[in-house]
Amino acid sequence: MTPQAHPVDHELVQAAAHVARTRCRGDNHTMAAAARARDGRIVTAVNAYHFTGGPCAELVLIGAAAAQGAYERDTIVAVGDRGRGVVPPCGRCRHLRAVPIADLLPESYVWADHQLDAE
Ligand SMILES: [Zn+2]
Repeated sequence: MTPQAHPVDHELVQAAAHVARTRCRGDNHTMAAAARARDGRIVTAVNAYHFTGGPCAELVLIGAAAAQGAYERDTIVAVGDRGRGVVPPCGRCRHLRAVPIADLLPESYVWADHQLDAE
């Protein structure tokens, strides 16, 4: 098992979970996101469904954060409605910057880690 490179911001996850539980209603808003701004503030948002796909909660959050002057953000998390919990970034968000696959799948199985040394 690989230890996590960054500690989990539980307050941030709880903020997103609270918004998902209390603000995601129906099919128009199904995901919530929360980001930790560089100054420590937490900014939250929900996705906006549109038949073309619509902006995900993370994209809405980036705009909402900018509107509040929180241009620098350190961490972002997305939580699904109906108790789905933390979810990985959508495909569009994964294009915002490159991250190692192990960061997206931190507990992944690595075949070589389970092989006996031949020596
Ligand atoms: Zn996204």
